[in-house]
Amino acid sequence: RRCLQRIKKTRHLNAYISVTEELAMRQAQEADHRLLRGKPLGPLDGIPFSIKDNFCTENVETTCASHMLRGYVPPFTATVVQKLVDQGAVLVGKTNLDEFAMGSGSTDGVFGPVRNPWSYTSLYRTHNPHAADPDSDWVITGGSSGGSAAAVASLSSFLALGSDTGGSTRNPGSLCGVVALKPSYGLLSRHGLIPLVNSMDVPGIMSRSVHDTAITLKVLQGVDEKDSTTVKVPDPPAAALPQDFDVRDICVGVPKEYHAPGLSAGTLREWNRVAAMFERAGAQVREVSLPHTQYSIVCYHVLCCCEVASNMARFDGLQYGHRSAVESSTEALYATTRHEGFNDVVRRRILSGNYFLLKQNYERYFVKAQQMRRLIAEDFRRVFSSGVDVLLTPTTLSDAQTYRDFIQEDNRTRSAQDDIFTQPVNLAGLPAITVPTSLSSRGLPVGLQLIGQHLQDRKLLAVAHWME
Ligand code: GLN
Repeated sequence: RRCLQRIKKTRHLNAYISVTEELAMRQAQEADHRLLRGKPLGPLDGIPFSIKDNFCTENVETTCASHMLRGYVPPFTATVVQKLVDQGAVLVGKTNLDEFAMGSGSTDGVFGPVRNPWSYTSLYRTHNPHAADPDSDWVITGGSSGGSAAAVASLSSFLALGSDTGGSTRNPGSLCGVVALKPSYGLLSRHGLIPLVNSMDVPGIMSRSVHDTAITLKVLQGVDEKDSTTVKVPDPPAAALPQDFDVRDICVGVPKEYHAPGLSAGTLREWNRVAAMFERAGAQVREVSLPHTQYSIVCYHVLCCCEVASNMARFDGLQYGHRSAVESSTEALYATTRHEGFNDVVRRRILSGNYFLLKQNYERYFVKAQQMRRLIAEDFRRVFSSGVDVLLTPTTLSDAQTYRDFIQEDNRTRSAQDDIFTQPVNLAGLPAITVPTSLSSRGLPVGLQLIGQHLQDRKLLAVAHWME
């Protein structure tokens, strides 16, 4: 009930697309009975959570913040959502995002932008006397899972699911000051997550602490027969986090290529401070090189557009959601439905993807990008096999920008740059987590990213827990 009240009180954030009040109250009552009898289903029983509105939910509208899917009510529930519900967790609502999860600001959905709760703290106001008007000087949440990050940061959900294809869970997690995990590719089922880039998508977990994240990961991971890319993990020990972690046993790599243009002085200082903190505590800290990282943005964008072009073909006006009134021919129906249904970001990616996939371009773009992807993954493999356990990097270039700055035309290009520290990890399928470590001079959260080896999510969480 408190969470539902909190959702109402923070409506100005625009974090939720739908609030599942009735369902939540019913689930909460059932959880209450179990807890009163001293028989909880597990650690998540009765815990309120929210999910990004690109996870399918039976009988609950699933929009992807797109006109195209307005009114679409799926006949099934995504595996990861079902697993939480089966553990007694209480779904309070579905959260706002960039249309079809394409973006890094949560400013491009059909329901309007999400506002970062930190815009309304007296701390931010004090540090920014010029940001006098909360209605025009608010800062973005980052994206594309900005609604989920805002929900956790503003205390209307204890947990939230996002999706992470190129950084969409970690980027808003970092800008909103919450813990955000992108698990290893294959660890969590993608069944029911409306695809953006199938070969990179993973469900992401946002919460207020690494411990909560670890508990949730333990519940969600595992093989799902409905997603053939899921892998079997050895039976995890009872405790969500390893008990025998000693920071003196680990080697932390600091990739030199991550000193990217545009990295703010404040974030750089924070990165150095935490690296020194590891060193003082007895960890080995070593500079490493990931030479192909510089190509990851272009590589990501070619592959992303190609998979988008193919994935979006299903939205033709016949099977899901929106259908145009123009029915003069099948082709006209397809074309006008897609013109009316998708925003310009989605349409641009479909066009680019189809261009890259043309017979005469396929080798030059798609195949080259696949080869580059292999080299980027190989960089990580080499560094990890040289004895490095985790990599420490910034998550974003700086703290959150104001909405006003973000929507400036040339900053749109910058928004692609924003994923510079997060995308390589998706290309390589590795686990990564962002943890809030301090506040910037503007009074906004700064997070740092840890990157782990494939399927070593538990070790990654142990290091994150230490750093927290
Ligand atoms: N910003 C990236 C994009 O627009 C990442 C999106 C994501 O992770 N869902 O593709």
